[in-house]
Amino acid sequence: MPTQDSLDFQKVFSQLSTQIKQLENYGEVASYIPELSKVNPKKFGIHLITSDNQHFDYGDSQEKFSIQSIAKVLSLSMAFRLEGPSLWERVGVEPSGNAFNSLSQLELEHGIPRNPFINAGALLICDVLVSHLNKPKEEFIHFVRKLVGNDTINYCERIALSEKEHGFRNAAMVNFMKSYGNIKNEVHEVLDFYFHLCSIEMSCAQLAQAMSYLSSNGINPLNNEEVVTPSRAKRINAIMQLCGFYDEAGEFSFKVGLPGKSGVGGGIVAIHPEKYTIALWSPRLNAKGNSYRGMKILEFFTTQTKSSIF
Ligand code: GLN
Repeated sequence: MPTQDSLDFQKVFSQLSTQIKQLENYGEVASYIPELSKVNPKKFGIHLITSDNQHFDYGDSQEKFSIQSIAKVLSLSMAFRLEGPSLWERVGVEPSGNAFNSLSQLELEHGIPRNPFINAGALLICDVLVSHLNKPKEEFIHFVRKLVGNDTINYCERIALSEKEHGFRNAAMVNFMKSYGNIKNEVHEVLDFYFHLCSIEMSCAQLAQAMSYLSSNGINPLNNEEVVTPSRAKRINAIMQLCGFYDEAGEFSFKVGLPGKSGVGGGIVAIHPEKYTIALWSPRLNAKGNSYRGMKILEFFTTQTKSSIF
């Protein structure tokens, strides 16, 4: 028996092609990481998984793309699991109101990044993982593969290298935090791990699966294993709500009304706790570095289905 929710989701998915045709595809694909600029800007995919495992799918949803900063949610989850609440002595949980790659707050706040989703915070999380893991890259990708239930998920060496060759701001941030004693490992090792996790490639369908534990109280629905405790899933969703879109987090809350995370590859994941996980990909970015059409379509989706958390 289809539920009212699934009928609503089905209806909105059937309206997507009309909706996308009416919408301008504004914005530019990310080019500060040269390899990312090679993507076809017309791509559009979306995939939704409900908490009772129904899947809704549209467009290029099975095509892999660079998940970039969306990986920061997965690295935070792993670091929170390994380090526990002492994590919050080294990184905050407040929105930054600044661009993802901003350096200015770091000096004022003595090398403690505002939150784990701006680049400085994500680099700090990488440092925590490098401290805890024997083989950080291998162990992290293994963690991600288990979430997706797919052993082919991998880093893209081409993109990791491209970012490494141009990642001067990220290098500045790690060095800066190290000068305050808030980075414990070698700068090059932290950067290498960070560039790799940003380079992970997944499709919308895989990404929605990977993040489903956040709409299931921390449980991976594929194997019923606890990824994070229910309380920690709540906290990670709260940080997504406040910080997932950097200096556009307010706008995303205002228009879409879900915890979410974006990446400069044009991906967005949003969570409706205990209801669904939705992943979307459209490479052209707005001025704040978030997917232009992705935000518009999610606004349409939550409005039509009346399924924001507010
Ligand atoms: N790898 C990118 C960077 O460090 C991630 C940024 C993003 O997706 N917002 O600049």
